[in-house]
Amino acid sequence: MSTNREVLRAAEWLRGTNRLLITAGAGMGVDSGLPDFRGTQGFWRAYPALQASGLRFEDIASPDAFRRDPAQAWGFYGHRLELYRRTQPHRGYRILRDWAAKRPGRAFVFTSNVDGHFQAAGFPESDVMECHGSIHWLQCLDVCSTRLWPSGSFAPQVDPHSCRLLSPLPRCPSCGGIARPNILMFNDSEWIEDRTLLPERQFSAWLASSPHPLTVLELGAGRSIPTVRRVGEYHAGRLIRINPREFQLESATGIGIAGAALEVLELLDEQLCNSAAGDPQT
Ligand SMILES: [Zn+2]
Repeated sequence: MSTNREVLRAAEWLRGTNRLLITAGAGMGVDSGLPDFRGTQGFWRAYPALQASGLRFEDIASPDAFRRDPAQAWGFYGHRLELYRRTQPHRGYRILRDWAAKRPGRAFVFTSNVDGHFQAAGFPESDVMECHGSIHWLQCLDVCSTRLWPSGSFAPQVDPHSCRLLSPLPRCPSCGGIARPNILMFNDSEWIEDRTLLPERQFSAWLASSPHPLTVLELGAGRSIPTVRRVGEYHAGRLIRINPREFQLESATGIGIAGAALEVLELLDEQLCNSAAGDPQT
């Protein structure tokens, strides 16, 4: 955990900004109890049945995997869908939502996470840009159309030992072919990005709406899939990076805090609440 000095500086920045870009990677979900698939060994610890089959994350997370062995690919994604549905987003999400609600210029979320937990914690759909899509939406594997539909009625039953789908495969309502999650996978030119277009437009308009430098709060975004880090670095007037391992930054206008998302958000919230309570009333 970082020294208090960095947390105090970050709290000072947050106190002084009325526009906050929140960027989040897989590390944000770890404190809710979700796996973050760190490296092949980390992935296999979460899914030992796939290790037995010699399948790495990039082998199973691809449209080809759904064509080769849909019951296996849906075993993996069906397990994740159920896990994300039943997992409560940790308290850090509510802290962020409360900060966002207090700021007149709003906050915006940019995340590679597909779990839908920002929306589950109360962020409006239009204020969350999910750059890798969402597990809570489905599309046709063969892209017979650009139709997307919620995965709500699909209740996958997965054999935990073999990581294979036992229940019937979800089907495209238009052509009857196999459905897949509306998630950007590896080697995936068939992902339908339409759901991200509205938040993307909102994001651009929000960025353009104020000339003031933006404060970016980056949570649990690693270097292995760097999209989230790059977006934050590109737009940041000031960058606050929270990460238990890869917290260093080169920029002089940034603060790197070594720590898990939840514990640091709680510390920052404590600072902000204390300062609010101590504000002069006149
Ligand atoms: Zn179809």
